[in-house]
Order: sequence, then structure tokens, then C-alpha cells
Amino acid sequence: SKSVVASSEKTRTVCTYCGVGCNLEVSTKNGKILSIQAPYEAEANGGHTCLKGRYAFKFYNHPDRLRTPLIRKNGDLVESTWEEAYDFICSKLTEIKTNFGPDAIAGISSARTPNEENYLMQKFMRAVIGTNNIDCCARVCHSPTALGMQRAFGTGAATNSIEDLNHTDCILIIGANPTDAHPVTGAKMKQKLMKGVTGIVIDPRRIELAKYATYHLQLRPGTNVALLNMMLYFIITEDAVDKDFVDNRTEGFKEFKEEILKLDIDQLECITGVDKHLVREASLAYAKANAGMEFHGLGVTEHSQGTFTVQLISDLAMITGNIGKKGAGVNPLRGQNNVQGAADMGAQPHQGAGYYDVTDPEINARYNTFYRSKVPDHVGYKIPEMFDAAINGSLKALWLIGEDVVQTDPNTQKVIRAMNNLDLLIVQEIFMTETAKYATVILPGTSFLEKSGTFTNGERRIQRVNKVVDPLPGTKSDGEIIVEIMNRMGYPQPPYTPEGMLEEISQIVPFFAGVTWENLTDNGLQWPVFEGGKDTKMLHQKEFKRSSGKGKFTFINWRESKEVETHGEEYPYIITTNRELEHYNCGTMTRRTGNVDILTEDVLMIHPKDAADHFIEDGEMVCVESARGKVDIKAFITDEVRPGVFSSTFHFPEIMLNNITSDVHDSEAMCPEYKVVMCRIRKSKGK
Ligand code: SF4
Repeated sequence: SKSVVASSEKTRTVCTYCGVGCNLEVSTKNGKILSIQAPYEAEANGGHTCLKGRYAFKFYNHPDRLRTPLIRKNGDLVESTWEEAYDFICSKLTEIKTNFGPDAIAGISSARTPNEENYLMQKFMRAVIGTNNIDCCARVCHSPTALGMQRAFGTGAATNSIEDLNHTDCILIIGANPTDAHPVTGAKMKQKLMKGVTGIVIDPRRIELAKYATYHLQLRPGTNVALLNMMLYFIITEDAVDKDFVDNRTEGFKEFKEEILKLDIDQLECITGVDKHLVREASLAYAKANAGMEFHGLGVTEHSQGTFTVQLISDLAMITGNIGKKGAGVNPLRGQNNVQGAADMGAQPHQGAGYYDVTDPEINARYNTFYRSKVPDHVGYKIPEMFDAAINGSLKALWLIGEDVVQTDPNTQKVIRAMNNLDLLIVQEIFMTETAKYATVILPGTSFLEKSGTFTNGERRIQRVNKVVDPLPGTKSDGEIIVEIMNRMGYPQPPYTPEGMLEEISQIVPFFAGVTWENLTDNGLQWPVFEGGKDTKMLHQKEFKRSSGKGKFTFINWRESKEVETHGEEYPYIITTNRELEHYNCGTMTRRTGNVDILTEDVLMIHPKDAADHFIEDGEMVCVESARGKVDIKAFITDEVRPGVFSSTFHFPEIMLNNITSDVHDSEAMCPEYKVVMCRIRKSKGK
């Protein structure tokens, strides 16, 4: 993976941004990064990257990088040595554990740090602290995907590979905007649609792919369940069910069908705001395709019925036989480069490494032996529960790795209250984020370019991340930091190496059984990887991972979001959140690259009719208010959104859009409902 020409080098590594997981070739000279290219032979991206991966790397040595630990003394964060910071953390954690018990401590691991470091973080929380209070940002993005697909299929990960786009004749995209958020995959989809593959886009916004799709079902936010029920209704009533697949591979269909046939299609049309004839045509196009490939994103999961929506998407794939064959499947588009890996490694409060149920006595016994420690057998706090526990005083300490919860989690003022109420907030970061401002102690970590390990992309591809440049002086990798703290807390660990940690992972995570550092060549391997190194491009070919081996149909009725029921009258508009191509998530990295000159601010998309109703002009500052708070933001008048619906990014802390978002969450997985926020609008005062 490394070739050297004189003092120049080319190193293969993996992009730190989205879940496409593009393989990159980074050129350096005398320890300085010159450029990033996309290797043509890389299976994940075949010679392509987007402008995030290719150009947005300059953050790694930005002057803002944190380069020394900081400890809060008399209200101010002051520089310290690593030794002081470690002593401070270890004595505070020990004191809190002794006085309040292990469940008074929690950790949030990072979806941008490699598998090995995520694995170590959950091991630290479980084996050293003795709590299952460990979570990661999958909670606020795809936790409903994991749970919904586990319920239907037994496994909560993409069933197929991106390469299957070459074998599909129908692409169904629901609640995702791939050309902005997963650009390399989005470009492949666009090419296919331009060449005549049937495209169905289900999205409240007219996203770019909607312009190339055969059908755009522009539903009201919060009505995915109603729309999918319409599709299932037409597939059943128009006799487009794949009977062989349903009879041989699934269970629960009879009861499911009975419930679907009771639905009132006119009522659903009214709820969704989408013409039933259009839904019928789109449903039949998907059902009758030789192979229909489904993709979804946070427009599915970030709803109070997120998990249920994923279950219905799974129903849709099973009823049409679109599982276990090429060019088909249910394929969540994972937002962060290693969010799949963070969950695989056990950075979740209910499942340890390898998705084992922490409450199962046999699993508990296995963990106890493997970790040589007493691992707890009760489920820990999910992220929203951590905030509640901090506010009510039962959570005393929180360790965050690379997670800016103040800017990214909903209802900012509530998150700030939680941070302020902790006795100990450890923030391990590369920049002074909005959250880091509340820290008791800050540990300066390293970026992806300064470390090695593995990332797992959205198609289950475990790829090797290779160190390109040395860590900036004063910084340490997350793995090194966690191991040094483990050793100081009386749990001896060998010095951190990604190779060694990967070996340990392969012993406890069954779908990593055949993974070694050496056999992960440049293109990586897709899990499950069996002894000997054979990997898996497609899941569920012969049977599902559920105990019966069958896929499970579940009927779900639509229900209005609590946010609409509670606040709809006072706040009559819906605002939903979106992403733009130039920036990644809350922009901590991309705002410190040239991308900030291309896209300089968050704006509010507003339909011309709504703008006219409020005498708002393009570019004018408006105040958007919800039951949680308000933000002032620039209006961008566009018919990309429906009347009554606004949309905005949250890339910039100057706007802090999450001041208004709702912490109502998915009833099953506790993913917050960022996509349905009731609000009202007026011109900003004095602007
Ligand atoms: Fe590839 Fe995503 Fe990185 Fe863009 S952001 S280069 S699509 S991994």
C-alpha cells in the first residue's frame, strides 16, 4: 500500500467522510501532503472521488488543530502535559465509580475513528469501568436501520454491494440525497438513470436524482409509513407479489396481507399528499423489475416511526423477491465513513462487539472470560438517555471521542444543560468544537491521515487505513490514548497496534473471523469474512439470519408524529434537515478547507408561495422559531421544497440549526426526529 519514489511517496488509505468509503491514493513529499487521487482499480470507487475526499484534506494540519491536553482550572481550560491529563482523568473516573457506581459513567465513541479504536473504547467501558453505557452516532442516524433490518432479516447491514448498480433495472431511493451526501454512489445512480434504468425517488424535496428519475413521489415529511403502505397495497391488489419468494423464504405474510387490505387508500393519499395513481405506477414498476435495488438514508430513519419504516422497506423487498439476488436488496446509505464499523465493534449499549445481546447469560459469560473482567448484563444508556441522566444527576462523567453533540444533536439548549451538569466531561478531539467548549478535560487526537486501522464502509467492506503522515507533535491516536488510560486504571494492555487489535477482534466478532491485517489488501473484504479469507458480496442468498431462517413480514400502521400533534397548531410549517455536497456533517473538518469558500453558510430553503405569504425576499434574514428555540438564517427561495416545508443544513455553528430541532425520537431505536420539526417564520427583527 506504500510506494516510494525518492522523497515522494504514495500511500493508499480511505476517505474520512461518508460511508461510500472511497479508496484514496495520497501523494506526499518530505512529509507534506501534495494531492489526493482516486485509484482506478479501487473496487469501492473505481477512480472517482467527490470534492470532499479529493480536496478537503487540508484540515489535518490547520492552525486550529488541538496540540496539547487542556484541563479546566478555575473555569478556564489551561494547557497540561499528557501525564497530568491522564492522572486527572483516572483519579476522577475512579472517584466517580467508587462514589456513584459504574453506571454513573458513559462514553460516546466515534464513527470517524477506525474499528480497532472503537473496539477498544467499548472494551474500556465494559471491562474497565463495568458499564454498558457506550453508544455512537449510529444512534442519531441509522440505529433504526440496524434494528428494523435485524427484525426483518436478522442482520442490520446493507444486503448487497454498490457494484450491483450495474445489474439492476430499477433504483428506489427513499429519504436520501446521494448526489450530495454520498456523491460517488450518487453519480453512479445518476448515470444509470440517464441510461434508462427506472428510478423512483421518494422525498419531500426535489433532489437532483428526482430530475432524472421516472417517478418522484414528493410526500409530506413524516408520512413514509403511509406511502410505503400504499405501495404494498397496490402490489398485493394488482397481483404483483413474488409468490415463490414469499412462500419459500418468509413468514407472517397471511396476517400482513389481511392488514394491508384493510387500508383506506384515499385516506393514505390525503395523508401523504401524493397522487395514488402515481404511487400505483411506481409500485408496479418496482415490483415488475427483474431486479429492484433499494437505497435509503436519514429521511427514513430520523423519524418517530423510523424503525417501522425500515421494516416496511424490508417488507417491500421481500414481497417483490428483491432480496438475495444481484441488482436488488435493501441498502442503507451510511452517513459516516465508519458508522457501520462502530456498531459492528459494539459501540452500542445493548449489543457488544459482533452484535451479541449483552443481557444473554451465555454471552455475558463469554465476555467475562474473554475480557477477564465482570462485564455488566443490563442494557446501558442510549445517547438521548445519557443527556437525560446528566440533567437529572445520575450520570456524572461522559467521555466523547470525535463527537460534537452540542452542534449535531437535537435541541441544543438541552444538550448544553446536560454538558454543564456533568462532573467530568472528557472530549477527545482534533479541533475546539462547540462541545469541547464545555469540557473538563480535552485530549488532542489525530486525524485519519495520521493513523492506521480499518474502516468498514456502507457495503460492509473492511478497508485498511494506512498512516500517511506522522501525527502532529503533541497529539496521540485514540487507540494509544485509550490503552494508556486502561493501563493506568489497572487493566494491563500491550502497547496499541491496529494489527494486534484486529487480531483480538477476529477472535470475538464472528463475521471478522477470517480478517487479518495482511489479507485486507487494497480493496478490503466484505463481511462476513470466513476463516481462510473468503468474503461475502451479498447477504441472505439462501436463508435469512433469523432463527427460523425466514424473513419476517410485519404490518405497521401510520401514525402522526407527536411533534405535529403537540405543536402543529402553533407552529404550522415543517422544517427538515439536509446536507450539501461541499460540507460534511457539522463541518468541523470541511469548514477548515477550501470548501468553505464554495459554500459559505447555511440557508433556509423556502417555497416561493410561502415566501410571498410572508413578504420574504431571496437572501433576506428570517427568524425560524420552534417550541425549543429560534434561529436567524438567510432565506433561499426555491421550488425544490413543497409549500409548507422548509429545509436547511446544519454545517455552521453560527446558525446552530439544532436550537430548533426536536428531541422526539424513534419509538424503537431512539433516533431523534430531525426530519419533522414544526416551526413558524417571520422576517428577522432589525435585519
Ligand atoms: Fe468518497 Fe464519500 Fe469521501 Fe466523497 S465523501 S470521496 S464519496 S467517501
